[in-house]
Amino acid sequence: MYEYIMVRYGDLILKGKNQHIFRHNINNQIAHKMYGLNVEIEFQHDLVFIKLNDTDPMDVIERLNFISGLSSYSKTVKCAYDLDEIADKSIALLKHEVHAKTTFKVETKRADKSISLKSFEISNLVSKKVLRAVENLVVDVKHPETTLNIETRLDGTYIYTKKIPGMGGFPTSTGGRAMLLVSGGIDSPVAGYLTMNTGLEIECVHFESSPLTPVESVQKVIDLVTVLSRYAPSSKIKLHLVPFREIHEMILKEVPESYIITIMRRMMYRLAEILAKKNSCKAIVTGDSIGQVASQTLESLITVQAVVSSLVIRPLSTMDKSDIIKIAKKIKTYPISSRPFSDCCTVYVPKRPVIKPTSERAEIFEKAFDYQKFLKIAIKETITVEINERKPLNIIDKGFSVGEIFKSENN
Ligand code: ATP
Ligand code: MG
Repeated sequence: MYEYIMVRYGDLILKGKNQHIFRHNINNQIAHKMYGLNVEIEFQHDLVFIKLNDTDPMDVIERLNFISGLSSYSKTVKCAYDLDEIADKSIALLKHEVHAKTTFKVETKRADKSISLKSFEISNLVSKKVLRAVENLVVDVKHPETTLNIETRLDGTYIYTKKIPGMGGFPTSTGGRAMLLVSGGIDSPVAGYLTMNTGLEIECVHFESSPLTPVESVQKVIDLVTVLSRYAPSSKIKLHLVPFREIHEMILKEVPESYIITIMRRMMYRLAEILAKKNSCKAIVTGDSIGQVASQTLESLITVQAVVSSLVIRPLSTMDKSDIIKIAKKIKTYPISSRPFSDCCTVYVPKRPVIKPTSERAEIFEKAFDYQKFLKIAIKETITVEINERKPLNIIDKGFSVGEIFKSENN
């Protein structure tokens, strides 16, 4: 039935001095994501048309759903600018889509202004023919459930009824790069998705404490980043795995219980900042949400952030947990995050964490050990894997311990 998918950019992408860059970037992404499908892509100034040939429109739409910066798409049919042809195509489309009573109107948009008839005249003429031929249509021009849209353009007339919402936001990678701290929880992958949706590319860092934590918790992070990689322009994301066990054990041994989480976080931020700078990332992103737990009070966040000079972005900072979960379900990270494996922050949870820590006290406790030396070793032993949705990495099937992944990736 359908011949084209009409793809609309977000409004802002077509305005201002960056529109050139935005459009170029998003067009490349569309071409990349359509890889392997028998489609042809026609880029026009304000829209993109994907000619389906024999491809299932849903296969195309599923892929478009991973591209940030697209506002909506429509499954369309196309014909010449000829009223009889337009009416025939409209009738066929409505017979295909309408199976029960629905209120209805026709709306025409003329991008081709050389056409002599006015928009409302085209709508009226087509409407008459359509109402005669298609059952179940009841005219309601104010609040119709079904709108038949006719768009006359220089290259032909496109007809459709529905606008399917896209991701919105800005094209990923037009805003620079940020380093996302990913744990195996619900929040950080959502923070990553929102970051990409605002136009930033991400790299990920995970601090892993095996064998204190099971290898499954690293697999969980790999699987979460694999889901996120589908939103990356290249369908790939770098994941830096930092061996954190020694630092973790040292903290457990040297630091009073109430400050364990605070100091663990401060070490993570220090390491994340070093890696961010090494990899030209301009900011650090976390999944913190204010007030969720003791480590996310304002005082805790201030005390942790004090150890870095980087910009720290917290996309979820004021969000409600239920809204975060909704996004996690939509982007399909939720079932992965819900697997029951502990990460380094859940393996040892102090009974009474400090609610209002201070940097001064944290510094006193940190003086008890030469953490700089351990940070250097952790950075040196960090391995970077490229996560690619087209080539999923399964370390459990390979029977790897985390140490062995480190060895195999380094060789
Ligand atoms: P999440 O669901 O993302 O784990 P959370 O609500 O469980 O978040 P915390 O465990 O307090 O919160 O972690 C807060 C943030 O710190 C996380 O969102 C993440 O960005 C970062 N973080 C925590 N643990 C790790 C880790 N092991 N590796 C990398 N980042 C981490
Ligand atoms: Mg967590």
